Amino acid sequence: MKRRDFIKKSAVVGVGTYAASKIGMPASVPPAGGKSSAPVVISTWNFGIGANEVAWKLLNEGASPVDAVEQGIWVVENDPTITSIGYGGLPDETMKVTLDAAIMDWRMNCGSVGCIEKIKNPVSVARKVMERTNHVMLSGKGAYEFAVAHGFKPIDLLTDQSREIWLNWKENMSSTDNWVGPHDMDDLMDNHDTIGLLAIDKKGRLSGGTSTSGMAWKIHGRVGDSPIIGAGLYVDGKVGAASSTGVGEANMRIVGSFLVVESMKNGQTPQEACETAIRRAIEVHSKQIKADKTFQLAYIALNKRGEVGGAAIRKGFQYAVYKDGVNKLVDAKFLYAQ
Ligand code: ASP
Repeated sequence: MKRRDFIKKSAVVGVGTYAASKIGMPASVPPAGGKSSAPVVISTWNFGIGANEVAWKLLNEGASPVDAVEQGIWVVENDPTITSIGYGGLPDETMKVTLDAAIMDWRMNCGSVGCIEKIKNPVSVARKVMERTNHVMLSGKGAYEFAVAHGFKPIDLLTDQSREIWLNWKENMSSTDNWVGPHDMDDLMDNHDTIGLLAIDKKGRLSGGTSTSGMAWKIHGRVGDSPIIGAGLYVDGKVGAASSTGVGEANMRIVGSFLVVESMKNGQTPQEACETAIRRAIEVHSKQIKADKTFQLAYIALNKRGEVGGAAIRKGFQYAVYKDGVNKLVDAKFLYAQ
């Protein structure tokens, strides 16, 4: 089936689903009672403020939410001082920078790339996968070749800063190897994050995207949750959208973003739905969470009414919300208090 046919067919299926909700199935979030506050943008971490700024401006000017999501994420991908995403992202154990990204719209169209090298804006390659192929995900060399075929210019994503941090890690890994360094392990920076950005426009169209360099020092070839549809990102145009940051493996195990959206579909608010997924993650990973004080996982969510929510395992997660003309940082509720 060609992509165009799929879009047409999914529109028809959508009508059926809405009809089902009318006869008693909680298939979608009910229409907003009061006036809608859209456009609304929500994204992970404090760097989300800059991303929101660009995305919200685009939405306010009438751009599609897919453009808003993509260009909001560019802000973070292009910033070399952010060491967990795009250009300047920390490399894997072999000093290669490999990136993961995804994008999804309100019609169930989605695309993603895993472990792509040398391309500064993987979210845009994910968009090309969504719009110019019948696939959902490309990875590694194939994703890179696909990007080059579409005119993306390869660059070296390793900056002096990220190389220095890698060197610091390498030199401090073991006292029995032959790497010796002047650095102290304490110099190591925070070594993983994701930009997850969700948006709704004035017409009530939802979209979302993710981008990350994944876990620093990962085994070459590792793909995290961010490009996995249902884990790092999920959008149901009739219900809401969700995204995640934190230990990707934990999120993949519980297909967390899907769980958040499905919980909203079953009547939970975005806040309640994020907490449902965090409780599930804690239930499944209680040993790891106890043993590792840095083990963190967090969700953000946005529903069709423009309501937002966010929750994390541990204290420290912040998300940025641009709503009713105000772009602000929110301290997420956390459910594990140690
Ligand atoms: N979820 C990302 C990964 O596992 C990292 C993060 O968001 O902290 O690749």
